Amino acid sequence: MNPIPVNTPLLNGNELKYLTECIETGWISSEGPFISKFEKQFSAYIGRDHGIAVSNGSAALDIAIKALNIGPGDEVIMPTFTIISPVQSVVTAGALPVLVDSDPLTWNMDVTQIDAKITSRTRAILVVHIYGLPVDMDPVIEIAKKHNLKIIEDAAEMHGQTYKGKMCGSFGDISIFSFYPNKHITTGEGGMIMTNDEALAQRCKKLRNLCFEPNGPRFIHHEIGWNYRMTNLQAALGLAQLEQIDGFIEKKRDMGIAYQTGLSFLKDKGYQLPIEKTSFSENIYWVFGIIAPTIEEKEKMVSHLSESKIGTRPFFWCMHEQPVFQKMGLFKDERYPIAEKLARNGFYLPSGLGLKQNQQLEVISCIKSDLI
Ligand SMILES: *Cc1c(COP(=O)(O)O)cnc(C)c1O
Repeated sequence: MNPIPVNTPLLNGNELKYLTECIETGWISSEGPFISKFEKQFSAYIGRDHGIAVSNGSAALDIAIKALNIGPGDEVIMPTFTIISPVQSVVTAGALPVLVDSDPLTWNMDVTQIDAKITSRTRAILVVHIYGLPVDMDPVIEIAKKHNLKIIEDAAEMHGQTYKGKMCGSFGDISIFSFYPNKHITTGEGGMIMTNDEALAQRCKKLRNLCFEPNGPRFIHHEIGWNYRMTNLQAALGLAQLEQIDGFIEKKRDMGIAYQTGLSFLKDKGYQLPIEKTSFSENIYWVFGIIAPTIEEKEKMVSHLSESKIGTRPFFWCMHEQPVFQKMGLFKDERYPIAEKLARNGFYLPSGLGLKQNQQLEVISCIKSDLI
């Protein structure tokens, strides 16, 4: 049996054509014409006034935090169950991440825990939409309004997902996307910042480009930024991918539904599957995660799949349990039982766009053979 990797991208559209155009015209740097095309078209797709393309999603978060002037003395409320990127951006800016536990069904931050974490130092709520379902945004928006907080929206896993019919990535004062190869559309490495605020957009542009002054004399700097520019080559890929996004999303949902059907027997064995929908959205199945009843069961299943050369990935590891943050004296003695269980018992199956139907059937039958 051939290996089934946990992710393979699909690059069957105009990717090669647009890349060839970059090579033939010599436009390979961030100055090339695909950058603004990609920025305009993707932000229009999400429904935002400004899109600022950057080198990756983590870079987008660094810029978002700094553009909102979040720094020492400030607190940002965010989930403990997340990739490290948003938390790292807050920590490196000198601010304090304040964590909340997860919702046991959607695996997103439990928004009912936000209110109790607000202090006079709270500046923002950083929501991270996890795996396929969006965070329940209405309560977040209400709390943010009441306490005059900014919303930073990490929509890195949510291209094309909606909350109550409105695009994810359209809710934050600043929102970000990633285009890593396992995301719904990819540029190899890449990211985008989105906002409706013109001044904020200009500031993000400056921060992405070493804080060169757009109108001032070149090489005179008033502030420090980064070189987080995206290349024209990446934007060429992004544009070609964006043309196919509707089909990609349909494929993701079909794949998720096929796993739901094929693996429904797992529920009788004490496993938890992703929920298909909530009152505010239908699962987009960025990845198809499952939660084993025990850690031992998970390890047994993962090694059974691995013996058949089927790739899996563990779930995120909680931020309050990260050695790096413990060493910094952060999150001492904090406990988030729901997130801890997700991190310990959860893993996800091959879910990339390049996954073929027969491969998916192999994954399902391999899981069956371990349990029946
Ligand atoms: C992938 C991802 C990121 C980071 O994006 P990169 O482009 O890999 O830096 C940030 N947040 C979430 C939720 C992600 O899934």
